[in-house]
Amino acid sequence: MKIRFDNNKKIFTQHTEGIPYLSFDMLDAFGVPNLFTTRYESFDSESGTGATGLRLCVMNTEDPEEASPLVIANRDRLARQLGSSIECECITDQKHTNYVHVVRPEDLGPEWPAEKPLHRQYVDGMVTDIPDVLLTVFGGDCPSVYIADPVKKAIGLVHAGWRGTLGRIPAVAIAHMTVRFGCDPKDMYAAIGPGICRDCYEMGDEVYAAFAEQWSSADAEMILSRYPDVDSSGREIPGGKYHLDLREANKMTLLRAGIPEDHIAVSNVCTKCNSDIFYSYRSHRMENEQAAMLVNRFKK
Ligand SMILES: [Zn+2]
Repeated sequence: MKIRFDNNKKIFTQHTEGIPYLSFDMLDAFGVPNLFTTRYESFDSESGTGATGLRLCVMNTEDPEEASPLVIANRDRLARQLGSSIECECITDQKHTNYVHVVRPEDLGPEWPAEKPLHRQYVDGMVTDIPDVLLTVFGGDCPSVYIADPVKKAIGLVHAGWRGTLGRIPAVAIAHMTVRFGCDPKDMYAAIGPGICRDCYEMGDEVYAAFAEQWSSADAEMILSRYPDVDSSGREIPGGKYHLDLREANKMTLLRAGIPEDHIAVSNVCTKCNSDIFYSYRSHRMENEQAAMLVNRFKK
């Protein structure tokens, strides 16, 4: 897989055995099983080719019941590649909220959360201190934010599209971990997963207005910039659209929540710039999305 990275920092390791995925070196160092998938069901490194079309979720699917057995089987395969299984998994319905669920043992298993009680719905993040629990979120341009506390042995995983980012969903997860599990943000490590880059992420003026109102104008200026329009001869002309930097925005939230800067890994992979390798909602508008997975297990 020839991924185009935005810089030459080494953030990820690529795995091509079984279902291919990327893992974060920073989380691997603590032995925390973690992954982010691609479009590939399989990949042969020698020939440089593979089978794409990997299906992992039933979101945006016309017939979830028909898709369900396949996506569950694929997620179980992935879970097993991390030394876990789908019986240990918790997922939520991901409605672009900033609600975070504290996982309970009865939440685990492959059932779609629509069949679960109301508290599992309209939820975009999860936290847990239960050993071996597997958290999974899905995204096809929206980054996931992975959080791990090796001291209290607790984890969090959130889906951070622009609405969740606006609602500071990583800080909501950190607050739950602090209050419920006694974690200290200074001990936590966080990784911002692959997602759409600033150059690719054009937004309407209302998004700038929302950040300026709910964050501050100064913060909005740091994460949103107006790119000039260009005429047919390549000259810049007045107008243009705002572009949002989801990575910078979520990094700002993590820093302000108290996680040290050297404990934060920021993805240098854009799903849209690499839309041959990743599902990108802005490129394909298709029903498939990547999975982010994180297991609450630490090296002894
Ligand atoms: Zn891009």
